[in-house]
Amino acid sequence: MMNNKYKLKTLFWEATLRCNARCAFCGSGCGEIQSYPDELTGDEICSALLDISGKLDPSEIMLNITGGEPLARADVLEVAAYASELGFSWGMVTNGSLIDEKKTARMKSAGMKTLTVSIDGCRETHEKLRRLDGSFDRIINSLREISSQGFAEHLQVTTVVNNQNIHELEDLREILLGIGLNSWRVVTVDPIGRALSNQSILLDKEGMKRYFEFTEKYKADSKLPVIQSCSHYFGEWEHRLRTRCFDCGAGKKVASILYNGDIFVCPNVERRKELIQGNVRTDSLADKWINGFDFFRSRKRTVSGQCRGCYYKESCLGDSLHTWNFDEERPMFCIKDYYSTEQINIYSRKEQLYNAALSRLKAECSDASVLKISCDKPSECRVFFERSAAKQLFSYFEWGRNTRNNEIEQMACLIGREECGMFVISHISPVFIDLADRESAVFTKETLLSAEKALRELKENDNRLELIGFVHSHPHELETVLSVGDAELHRRLTEKKNIKLSMLVNPHKKRINAYFGERFELAEIYIAGSAQELEKTEISVWEK
Ligand code: SF4
Ligand code: SF4
Repeated sequence: MMNNKYKLKTLFWEATLRCNARCAFCGSGCGEIQSYPDELTGDEICSALLDISGKLDPSEIMLNITGGEPLARADVLEVAAYASELGFSWGMVTNGSLIDEKKTARMKSAGMKTLTVSIDGCRETHEKLRRLDGSFDRIINSLREISSQGFAEHLQVTTVVNNQNIHELEDLREILLGIGLNSWRVVTVDPIGRALSNQSILLDKEGMKRYFEFTEKYKADSKLPVIQSCSHYFGEWEHRLRTRCFDCGAGKKVASILYNGDIFVCPNVERRKELIQGNVRTDSLADKWINGFDFFRSRKRTVSGQCRGCYYKESCLGDSLHTWNFDEERPMFCIKDYYSTEQINIYSRKEQLYNAALSRLKAECSDASVLKISCDKPSECRVFFERSAAKQLFSYFEWGRNTRNNEIEQMACLIGREECGMFVISHISPVFIDLADRESAVFTKETLLSAEKALRELKENDNRLELIGFVHSHPHELETVLSVGDAELHRRLTEKKNIKLSMLVNPHKKRINAYFGERFELAEIYIAGSAQELEKTEISVWEK
């Protein structure tokens, strides 16, 4: 039976383990051996891709070609071109030192969408860490050339931050600014592979703090945004560094074909025999994806040891799988190692206050049921709709009905109070929006004035009330996720008007989302109402 819950989004193909570099922190320890007789042939990988494209939708899968050094393999771009023909988008992660004019032309004709090139410091540091003398200028020139040709949709540099390059990130940024990159992915070195026996390269607490401060400073930089990888849960720094919360997708949306054809999760994870799901020489990766990968989809990692009972466990889930110590069943990276006990106690107190406020609110509407709607991860923010507000929400947006009103965008303001970091909504009140262009409504000065008027009137009976935010509908098939326009509106209101919450509903699809904070964290939503009413709402949150 088709397993719909887990959609394969990223498929790594480890084209080879051969590599012309020998990085001091290489996760796979590549570069020592230059011949792998069991490496998949071009025909074998092509036939595996053909099988996948027949059973899963290739247009939804990003094929990420990695290594070793993928360009050390002569036919890599031929395979990539074939993947394009099959309908996959593809990208490559490379050390960049083997890119030349001919390869650039072939990347272009083979339809390359993304290119990620590793640069680990300014010239001297980079060449020392990668043990690739004379490579720095060549890589920068190749990147400039690819950027000027404009065929890659996303051109990125990735830097592994360690204690030998942490002090030169600002200088490196100056160099990278002139290249025409779309993003700079700045990640921390992990205690795996070669870095395990070279631990002096790992960041200490001070280094980690500098790393956080640097990435926060440039995360929204319009010239060169600094982005995170999927790795590591960063606790209270999550919202400050990321646009999306930590989510290790290994086995849930990420799989790989290793150099020898083994079917695996993420190639960075320890390659234990019992975790290998098969081999594309004899098995179908698509079948395995649908019926296998059980361990990776369970929550076994947090049932014991230091993660059990951890305050962060619902969000962190034992951190990245690639830094999980399978023998000792413990994480090798844990954000708590970088916090003081005092800080952690503050966070637990915050959690206790949330829980107390939630229990009180539930008790206050003892005759009602409370429906909890949330994405997979618990959030730092909860929105509680009191019974009256929930009723207004469903009736104003004509929930579940296909009416004329529901064919255009509608908006209401959210009025209530803030308690222990929880937004308690007691009223929703329709507001004016300009529908001159019926495709997209416009939030105007009048919108805000109508919200403020509603607040003034309600405040006459309860002066604790404040304007918490706005909720608007995404009619028809428009997904209930924050669009660029929504995000911009949310940002403007947050910065200029102290508005904290933006909600989106799709009454047709019965979907709802709530966002808060400048990085658009998804909030947990609680709705109070009679059991019957709530049953009919069939509400679901749109997870993305
Ligand atoms: S194992 Fe690590 S690299 Fe792989 S998906 Fe998880 S966090 Fe990302
Ligand atoms: S103890 Fe486990 S769940 Fe808690 S923060 Fe550390 S790695 Fe994450």
